[in-house]
Amino acid sequence: TPLYSSAASDVYKRQVLGLLMTSFPSQQTIPEALIRTQQRINEACKAAKRSPNEVTLMAVSKTKPLSDVMAAYDHGQRHFGENYLQDALNKIEHCFHDDIEWHFIGAIQSNKTKTIAAQFDWVHTLDRQKIAQRLSQHRPPHLPPLKVLIQVNISNESNKSGVTLEALDALVDQVSQLPNLLLCGLMCIPAADQSESVQHEAFNKMAAARDQLNHHYPSIQHLSMGMSGDLSSAIACGSTMVRIGTDIFGSRNPAPAPNS
Ligand SMILES: *Cc1c(COP(=O)(O)O)cnc(C)c1O
Repeated sequence: TPLYSSAASDVYKRQVLGLLMTSFPSQQTIPEALIRTQQRINEACKAAKRSPNEVTLMAVSKTKPLSDVMAAYDHGQRHFGENYLQDALNKIEHCFHDDIEWHFIGAIQSNKTKTIAAQFDWVHTLDRQKIAQRLSQHRPPHLPPLKVLIQVNISNESNKSGVTLEALDALVDQVSQLPNLLLCGLMCIPAADQSESVQHEAFNKMAAARDQLNHHYPSIQHLSMGMSGDLSSAIACGSTMVRIGTDIFGSRNPAPAPNS
């Protein structure tokens, strides 16, 4: 007689597979990692009494090959985030799915605004009036307005991009007047290595700023916050867009040289 009935043996196999996958997350395939990430989002939403429909998953594919983007696309993923312009263009130009939404989430140099405005659907890292003006000016007329989020330096770190909360209102006022930009919300990257309560405090300040601005600027709705390490806290505090790289694509190759 067989040791296990075949149904029990299937359960057993799945358990072993599950164990293997928790011990060696790098061996997960991209579709498996997407499923797990979506499960984490669903659990965080449930705990926060929010609907998972309120939270968009952006897959951060920086430094990863186009084949990884395609693997995620084939699994239904449509939002992708990129930090390095040349690395991003190599993918965008060879990718013929026009239902992908490309999000620029890296530092913006002013000599790159023309390409960014033409190639991306979203920019999350706007923090200066000059860059905003250039993006608006360079947005091709046949495209809808470029969706932008203002990056807030919520932990007041001297080496980090983003406007301070104090300077936010003035920049919002300027950006909202630009014809070819649609100001959709705020983005932050809180200081790393903080306790969960300090992280919560930063995320909550972002949500309060968004709520307050939304009274005067109804298009300001999004909160782009939460990465692989702090997804659940960010969702608990109201994030509407999480930016997940490592948990979907595994650990990254080093960043390309500056200017790429
Ligand atoms: C790289 C990056 C991410 C993704 O970070 P992971 O920890 O790999 O999930 C998210 N947001 C920004 C701005 C990034 O540069």
